[in-house]
Amino acid sequence: AKEAGRDRCMTFDSEMGRAAKERSQIEHDLKEALEQGQFQLHYQPRVDTLTQKVVSVEALVRWQHPTRGMISPGAFIPICEETGIIEELGHFVLTEGCNTLIKWHRAGVKIGMSLNVSPRQFLDDKLMDIITDIASGPEFPKGIIELEITENVLIGDHDLIAERLRQMTELGFRIAIDDFGTGYSNLAYISLFPLDCIKIDKSFIDQLPTSEPIIRLIKTLSDQIGASSVAEGVETKIQANCLAEIGCHQIQGYYYSKPMPEDDVLKRIAELGIN
Ligand code: C2E
Ligand code: CA
Ligand code: CA
Ligand code: CA
Repeated sequence: AKEAGRDRCMTFDSEMGRAAKERSQIEHDLKEALEQGQFQLHYQPRVDTLTQKVVSVEALVRWQHPTRGMISPGAFIPICEETGIIEELGHFVLTEGCNTLIKWHRAGVKIGMSLNVSPRQFLDDKLMDIITDIASGPEFPKGIIELEITENVLIGDHDLIAERLRQMTELGFRIAIDDFGTGYSNLAYISLFPLDCIKIDKSFIDQLPTSEPIIRLIKTLSDQIGASSVAEGVETKIQANCLAEIGCHQIQGYYYSKPMPEDDVLKRIAELGIN
C-alpha cells in the first residue's frame, strides 16, 4: 500500500511537472506571437433587421500559429488573463481595431466597431492611458467605438467602476455589457452605470422560443436605461423572426455572417450595405 501511495505521488508530481512545462511553453509562445505579429483581428457584422444593413462590426482576435494554424481566442485568452499577457494583447486589439476603423472611415465605410475588453484589462490602470491616447488622435471617430465588458466586471467597487466607465464615456467610447444574463451582477446596479448597449447572450437565443419572456425582459430593461440591445449568436431565420417580433432589431450571428478577415468582411459589408 505504501509503495502504491508513493507511485501515485510520483505520477502526480510528474503530471504536474508536465502541465507546468506545457503552460510555460504556451506562455513563451504567446509572448513570441505578440513580438512576431501572429495575432490578427477578424470582424463580424452587427445587422439591423429593419433595414438588413450593417450597423457595426465586432473585432474578434485570432492567433495565426506558424505550425498549428488558426487558434480561437477561447484557447488562449484565459491563459493571457492568468499570466497578464492580456495587457499587451489587449493593447494590440484596441490600437489595431481603432486604426482599422479610421482607415475604413477614410475609405467611406462609416460603421461602428466593438472591441472586447477582458476583466483584468478593464481593471488595469494602463487601460485608461491607452484609450486616452487613442481618443486624442486627430481622426478618432467619437461615439462609435464600443468597448464590450462582461457583466462580472460590474461586481466589485461600484464607485470605482462607475467612475472608470464615466471616463471612458467622456473620452467618446460607448460601453456594452457582453454575454448579458450569464453573469452574477446585481441587476439593481445596472442602472447606476452609463451603459449604451446590452448584448443578449447566445444561450438565450439558442433557447428560443422558450426564452422569449426573458428576452422581452432584457429588451425592456435596456429600453428603460436608455441602452440598445443586441442579440448574439443568431443562426437561423426562425430566431431572427422571433427576435423581430420581440422588437429586438439588432442581431449578430452566423445567420448574417461569420467573423471574417478584413478583406472578406468589407465585401460582406458592401453586399449588405451600411445602415
Ligand atoms: P464573445 O465576445 O461573446 O464573442 C462572440 C463569440 O461567438 C465569437 O467567438 C464568435 O465567433 C461566436 N459567434 C458569433 N456568432 C455566432 C453564431 O451564430 N453561432 C455560434 N456558434 N457562434 C457565434 P470567438 O471569436 O471564438 O470568441 C470567443 C470569445 O473570446 C469572445 O466571446 C470573447 O469573450 C473572447 N475574445 C475574442 N476576441 C477577444 C479580444 O480581442 N479580447 C478579449 N479580451 N477577448 C476576446
Ligand atoms: Ca464580445
Ligand atoms: Ca458575447
Ligand atoms: Ca461569450
